[in-house]
Amino acid sequence: MSEKPKVAFYWCSSCGGCEEAVVDLAEGILDVVAAADIVFWPVAMDFKKADVEAMEDGSILAAFVNGAIRTTEQEEMAHLLRRKAKVLVAFGSCAHQGGIPGLANLWDRQAIFESSYLTGPSTVNPEGTLPATALPHNGDVVTLPGFYDTVRALDQVTSVDYYIPGCAPTPNIIAGAVQTLLSGDLPPAGTVLAPDKALCEDCPRIDTKPQDLSIERFYRPYEILADESTCLLAQGLLCMGSGTRSGCSHLCINGNMPCSGCFGPTSKVRDHGGKYLSAIASLMSAMDEEAIQKALDTIPDPIGTFYRYGLAGSLLRRRKMTPVA
Ligand code: SF4
Ligand code: SF4
Repeated sequence: MSEKPKVAFYWCSSCGGCEEAVVDLAEGILDVVAAADIVFWPVAMDFKKADVEAMEDGSILAAFVNGAIRTTEQEEMAHLLRRKAKVLVAFGSCAHQGGIPGLANLWDRQAIFESSYLTGPSTVNPEGTLPATALPHNGDVVTLPGFYDTVRALDQVTSVDYYIPGCAPTPNIIAGAVQTLLSGDLPPAGTVLAPDKALCEDCPRIDTKPQDLSIERFYRPYEILADESTCLLAQGLLCMGSGTRSGCSHLCINGNMPCSGCFGPTSKVRDHGGKYLSAIASLMSAMDEEAIQKALDTIPDPIGTFYRYGLAGSLLRRRKMTPVA
């Protein structure tokens, strides 16, 4: 019988990029397989939920769950894996903070169903059929998972031991985290397994970031041809490096794109979007209302900019919907 520790991977509400990120370990995945038995990984291997249910509680060393929690099934799986694993890891931005799916918290289930199944420009649904959680069919009942009003991060559903940040986590961060977990020398619970410093601190362009910036307006990446060696924020691009955790090897900066914050905040920051919004406000040169509004107009999607990966896990969590009269 195998003595190797057991690990599991599962995805909830996500794009699949985190699963790709595991595959991107390339030959590194062989190190994982050599060191551990993968006992559950629906995207790649034919295990069933019943296989996990049959395992003893706590018998999996680490379960890596990516994706936010949007449905009843995802919540059920999060609780099941929490019970079966000694260590539950929120893997990637969506499990960590709600991620891109968390932006759906600007609407509720009714609005999302209406747009997706009734009024969308490419939708043809003359009978107005909507998903139902139970449907009689040939004398039986067909069921679907329930769809919650609100998207939640993994730790808003169950307790989480560690977080691996990123959209998606980079191979170096994943490999380092797996090594740490398999070594048995575990950091304190709640640790984000990436450097606890801001991206700016080790950015190759930091020397060109002025101490005092006086920004009149912001640009979206397609509006200017950014210089490839100068700080992107100094060029008016909304680069979130000052409030974002390091560890991604500056992937976006090296591609001449501003950081959009996928690694989330450092441990010193409670609300990533709020912190960055306040930092940006202090850099703006506009003083009167008209000039301030003009500068703000250059940020067409403030929530999607400041809370792109973290709305669900933020202090705001979601928009309060106005009840229909
Ligand atoms: S703001 Fe962006 S480009 Fe400028 S130093 Fe920080 S991470 Fe680098
Ligand atoms: S630069 Fe920012 S958005 Fe890009 S991978 Fe790194 S943390 Fe994520």
